[in-house]
Amino acid sequence: MKITGITKITGVFGYPVKHSLSPVFHNAAFRYLNLDYVYIPIEVAPENIGNAVKGIKAMNFAGVNITVPYKTTVMPYLDEIDADAKMLCAVNTLVNKEGKIKGYNTDGHGFIRSIKERGITLKDKTIFLLGAGGAACAVADALVKENVGKICICNRTDQKAITLKEHLLKTRNFQGGCVVPFAQKNNEEYWGNVDILINTTSIGMQEYDLPLVEERFIKPLKLVYDIVYNRETDIIKFAQKAGVPFIDGLSMLVYQGAVAFEFWTGITAPVEEMKKAVGLDR
Ligand code: NAP
Repeated sequence: MKITGITKITGVFGYPVKHSLSPVFHNAAFRYLNLDYVYIPIEVAPENIGNAVKGIKAMNFAGVNITVPYKTTVMPYLDEIDADAKMLCAVNTLVNKEGKIKGYNTDGHGFIRSIKERGITLKDKTIFLLGAGGAACAVADALVKENVGKICICNRTDQKAITLKEHLLKTRNFQGGCVVPFAQKNNEEYWGNVDILINTTSIGMQEYDLPLVEERFIKPLKLVYDIVYNRETDIIKFAQKAGVPFIDGLSMLVYQGAVAFEFWTGITAPVEEMKKAVGLDR
């Protein structure tokens, strides 16, 4: 990659960022399209996040991604926040437009694009959603915008599942929310009409993690989606074994990156090249 005096700078602010895969697929995309851009991981200590945002302006970066732990705490430092990101109380992409920094959240878009790419429709589907954290909120909001029929939310802390259900009702007038008590997640009464299982918890990231749902519920499903991206999780293995379509978190990671890429460059992201760069074509 040739860095010139006019190379546009993008990157990711996080803490830590040393394991981030984003530089791999963004730089591959820039190279493939011969764009004079570069993407660099930047570790920002918590006391410096405000100054780091000022630095985007001072150094005329095209934009950056924002990752853990700054998706919410960076928001007060921005000039403008997209309406959807405001509703989710989280941004993952900043765009520098003539010295004004606007925040977006591309997680939900990326998630939906990765499903549509498979030709799977979401309208009227019943979803079993594991988790009620930041990613769950973006995923659930995106699902509601796609007119799913029902979202059954199940979270270790039951109260957070209730809060997410109420949030969807209040912000999107979504009437199809329901809560599955965590202790009853493997109770048949909740699985009868489920079409799609989505894991948005961090369970599965570690080899010793036990799957939250039992294998017997997987076979009748139309799709299993696990947003964990660092390894093949047990529920993805269950889906593979049962011949059920599945998508893992690497797809979501690449697609949320593709949406950010398009904000920065105004050019359609070369998604296939980005996938290749992280080994998703294998
Ligand atoms: P978060 O806001 O901290 O939420 C974590 C979620 O995991 C909560 O629902 C939490 O339940 C649950 N959880 C944690 N430990 C658990 C345990 N031992 N048993 C059961 N549930 C447990 O984090 P997040 O930002 O939503 O991220 C969640 C996962 O999604 C992470 O693995 C992250 O890497 C991944 N992610 C992937 C992408 C992608 O592009 N593929 C994008 C964003 C996030 P409680 O509420 O009870 O704590």
